[in-house]
This record gives sequence, C-alpha cells and structure tokens, in this order.
Amino acid sequence: MDDTPRFVMIDEPFLCRVCGFEVKPLGYTARDHCPRCLCSLHVDNMPGDRANECGGVLRPVGVEMQRDEYKIVYRCESCGETKRNKAASDDDMNLIIRLSANPVRR
Ligand SMILES: [Zn+2]
Ligand SMILES: [Zn+2]
Repeated sequence: MDDTPRFVMIDEPFLCRVCGFEVKPLGYTARDHCPRCLCSLHVDNMPGDRANECGGVLRPVGVEMQRDEYKIVYRCESCGETKRNKAASDDDMNLIIRLSANPVRR
C-alpha cells in the first residue's frame, strides 16, 4: 500500500487571464505565472498543487534577489495574500528589472 501524499507538479499550457497570452508548458518545472505580464493566479497552497480555492489574480508587486535567483513577489487582488514565485527562464526580463526597482512593501 502506498498512500503517501505525492507532490505533483502540474505543468500545462494555459491562457493568461490577465493579458490573454497563450502560455506554453515550461518543461523543467511547473509554470506558475505568465512570462509576458508575470501575473499569476492564486490557486496554489504549495507550488503547483492547485489546492487553493481563492482563484484571485496575483499581481507582481516587486522582485527579490536570492543568491543568483529572482523571486517575483505577488499580492493577490482578491484576498490580499502575499506570495513569492521563482522567475522562469523565459520571463520578460525587462519587466523583472522594472519590478526590481520597486522597493517591496511588506
Ligand atoms: Zn499574462
Ligand atoms: Zn487570494
């Protein structure tokens, strides 16, 4: 018997609800935001689990540098929760750089 809860990454194409961009699967990890406008949806508790029922739009509000990695800081338009997602390799770098100029308000 194997009833260990499995951590499932869902990597699937989707239409961005914010800008309408057709987002392709990322391939190396679960895509969790749109590479064009960087918006995401509040659907995860843990990255990729789609277990959160809020469903609000996560707007990027800033960027944090962690070692050599960018983390996009989001605020949910519906519930106000703050979340962080790793930037993906094909994210719009210009947007990330513009966001990184914003001090993140906590
Ligand atoms: Zn988008
Ligand atoms: Zn929310």
